[in-house]
Amino acid sequence: MKIFILTDLEGTAGVVDFESQTYPAGKYYEISKELATEEINAACDGAFESGVKEIFVVDGHGPGGIIPEKIHPDVKLFHGRPLSKTFHLEQGWDAVFLIGHHAMNGTKNGNLNHTYSSREIVRMTLNGKDVGEIGMEIFLAGCFDIPVILVSGDQAACEEAEMYNGAIEKAVVKWGITRTSAVSVSPIKARQIIRQSAKKAIGRLKEIKPVKLEGRCELTIEFISSASAFIWQNKSGIETVDPRTIKIKGNSFIDVWNRFYLG
Ligand SMILES: [Zn+2]
Repeated sequence: MKIFILTDLEGTAGVVDFESQTYPAGKYYEISKELATEEINAACDGAFESGVKEIFVVDGHGPGGIIPEKIHPDVKLFHGRPLSKTFHLEQGWDAVFLIGHHAMNGTKNGNLNHTYSSREIVRMTLNGKDVGEIGMEIFLAGCFDIPVILVSGDQAACEEAEMYNGAIEKAVVKWGITRTSAVSVSPIKARQIIRQSAKKAIGRLKEIKPVKLEGRCELTIEFISSASAFIWQNKSGIETVDPRTIKIKGNSFIDVWNRFYLG
């Protein structure tokens, strides 16, 4: 069995603030990466203990959220930018874990809630419904017939994943109070929760199906500033909705994704 792990930094227990913890200039950025790396390693341990033979880890945090020298010795790590547009999901995996994830921008009690760019994007909708990174990733995996079987992060992130797949295994490691505060379990406890949840998810693999978005697809992106939207408006196949909002239309989700995701 081969598992694909897509990581992020903002859903890690003990990480609650953008400025000091998730931006590269942050005073505690290195500590955040260490906490995240250990949570990812716990997910790997749980998977290997359940008979998984191969794990591919993708560092999904823009400026990097993993300490390479501390990653589990038996996995491969895809990091740096640009990543391939589909993160190598097309290489045939049995399931995806989303580790350290966060809710979409504007989510009540979503600690570190944002959608791709905490400094640029207000809101995204997919076929008229609000969508964040978790939804986009679940549909992207679905394009390759791969189920997302585990999500870890704060409660809001886990509930967001559950909206797309009621069967998904959830590892809640913190509870958001505001965008920059939360109640976290200890890092040691978070690792125990994630390891156990990874085992449960592998055990339930057959019950957790891929989620596919069929047919034509429309993604709107509302930016904070017209300057961000302006850069997109000059590209082919991009419609202008208003000075701060663009629309990408396509024949399928993957068509829209390929134009949206810049790597
Ligand atoms: Zn991130």
